Amino acid sequence: MKLSGPAIPEKWQPAYEAHLQALESKVAVVAAWLLLITVFIYQFSHPLRNVHSSELLGIEFLLRLPVILTSSMTLVGHYLGGFRWPSRYFLRLMGLSVMAMILSMLLLYLKTGTSGLYQISNGLVISFFGVSVLAVRGIKEWALLFLLPLGLFAGAAASLGIAFTDILPLFFDPLMMMLIGIIVMEALRRVLTSEFEARQTLGEMAATDQLTGLLNRRAIWPLLNHELQHAQRAGTPFSLILGDLDLFKKVNDVFGHDAGDLVLQETARRLEGALRRQDALCRWGGEELLILLPDTDSAGAQEAAEKLRASMADSTIAAGDNRIHQTISLGVASFQNGDDIDAVVSRADEALYRAKHKGRNRVEIAGSADAMPAVSD
Ligand code: GH3
Ligand code: MG
Ligand code: MG
Repeated sequence: MKLSGPAIPEKWQPAYEAHLQALESKVAVVAAWLLLITVFIYQFSHPLRNVHSSELLGIEFLLRLPVILTSSMTLVGHYLGGFRWPSRYFLRLMGLSVMAMILSMLLLYLKTGTSGLYQISNGLVISFFGVSVLAVRGIKEWALLFLLPLGLFAGAAASLGIAFTDILPLFFDPLMMMLIGIIVMEALRRVLTSEFEARQTLGEMAATDQLTGLLNRRAIWPLLNHELQHAQRAGTPFSLILGDLDLFKKVNDVFGHDAGDLVLQETARRLEGALRRQDALCRWGGEELLILLPDTDSAGAQEAAEKLRASMADSTIAAGDNRIHQTISLGVASFQNGDDIDAVVSRADEALYRAKHKGRNRVEIAGSADAMPAVSD
């Protein structure tokens, strides 16, 4: 059995990490409540379990204390948000404290007489299963949570002169439970991973334009809003460029729709190549493209738009035996105080209209000195 499970493609790694963290956070909260309740019940169940020793009760409380502390810390961290730690650290602490508690209790009972040993063995069964479930990250996590404490336990037992043959029968059921826990957890992890992949695939399909592979209009909206909020809060500029292919209808009419499609695909490739990594390019409409330039003022955006224009105009596109000279007109607008997204887009649209009006294959800046009055159609 390949315990590492199916590999997640590199491009989804950050999203997968976030997915895992969300899962771990949920597991941590449920586990912390369960541990607190279970430890509470065990602490006060001595009469029911026929254990009558206040000394034992005190020592057991001390052994349970790390579990109480780590689960309380987990809950405080979760509900009050005081700790910046990822949940997996809390899961590790809880797992290790449970193992330390149950194994040292076993040592205690082995050392002080065997009257309650079968109860400890039951406790081991529950703990081993529970700790297997805490190992959300798989085999490495499991090794940390089980092998380390079991190794320490074996060392402590040997130094206390406890015979291996006394311990082994007590471990049979717990180890079986641990095995079942690991298999259940691995199966669950695989189900969750493939669900994650299915969701990512669907999300990507919903966000992508099929022809060009660019973001579609719906998908760029959250990015625009994010940038708007950033601009409003931090006062950083951002710019939008609206591009529209020149006389594209003619390309369809003369060379056919398939050639038009090919030109659109090549346009996407060229524009993407001319942009920075942090810029977002989206198919805004049929042959209209919207480009978001984060942290970019009007001058920077003008430079970027000029690069985009040149990437189209400088060389022809091969479509079968034909070479198509496809140009693009671009309108640039930058965020100004009080703008919403529609306002910036609408200024870029006015600038684009001007670029068309002035003969196409050019860049126009919204609000520049020679701006025409707003157009009405
Ligand atoms: P202008 O320079 O004024 O923008 O002229 P234009 O011909 O580009 O303008 P218009 O908006 O009239 O035409 C856009 C054309 O784009 C019309 C439409 O058939 C074509 N188009 C839109 N989406 C696609 C597509 O996915 N594939 C193809 N092949 N053509 C498309
Ligand atoms: Mg056009
Ligand atoms: Mg158009």
